[in-house]
Amino acid sequence: MNLHLNINLADSYKSNSQKARILTEDWAKQNTYCPNCGDLKLYKFENNLPVADFFCKYCNEEFELKSKRGQTVGNKINDGAYSTMIERINSENNPNFFFLTYDNVNWNVINFMIIPKHFFVTDIIEKRKPLAATAKRAGWVGCNIELKKIPQNGRIFLVKNSKIINQKAVLSEWKRTLFLKNKKGSSRGWILDIMNCIDRIQSDTFKLRDIYAFEKELSLKHPDNRFIKDKIRQQLQLLRDKGIIEFKTRGTYKKIDNENI
Ligand SMILES: [Zn+2]
Repeated sequence: MNLHLNINLADSYKSNSQKARILTEDWAKQNTYCPNCGDLKLYKFENNLPVADFFCKYCNEEFELKSKRGQTVGNKINDGAYSTMIERINSENNPNFFFLTYDNVNWNVINFMIIPKHFFVTDIIEKRKPLAATAKRAGWVGCNIELKKIPQNGRIFLVKNSKIINQKAVLSEWKRTLFLKNKKGSSRGWILDIMNCIDRIQSDTFKLRDIYAFEKELSLKHPDNRFIKDKIRQQLQLLRDKGIIEFKTRGTYKKIDNENI
């Protein structure tokens, strides 16, 4: 993997956003591998198809690429029409998202991250204000992907702060998330909620009471559930079975860091 963008390709483009699109797409095509199966090449869809940007010929996973200038990934990714995004999430033919940040002085990739599609729930999509009546597309409603609402386990870096992450570690991190694929609707929502609560606990080990501290917040989000504590314990057991956390002594849990696997 070479972190340098091939700026020669951008010579004939005037607009910065077009340049960025050309350079980052070319970079991804040349440098990335499939995080699902490890195949060393991804292929590009034809430009005029209303689908994702890349696909893997070996395992058929599809990927969309978003990029922005900057040193950090930030909290939000600007995306297309809100209604289309919600439709895609609900129909579950949404692609996985690659997210890339670059610097436009030296033209290097700084971060390159994948968010597996099974982390996409309507919760993480923010509706933007409709475009003003004076705009070309007046009334059009776009959306943001709220990265901060995606659990740590769903933000898998291939390049982090200009450092290339070992491919084996990336594949194993990806693999650890696959159990979510078979979970639908509110059952997936609950797991993601508890993963987010765990992320918000500062230390690596924690007690049951640390998670119970989120009971009120969770009950507001799930008003129909009267047994929040039971639900929390059920999710913790599942996350233990899937290798996200481990149970230490009774009532004490530990987050499993992927690098230790
Ligand atoms: Zn693949």
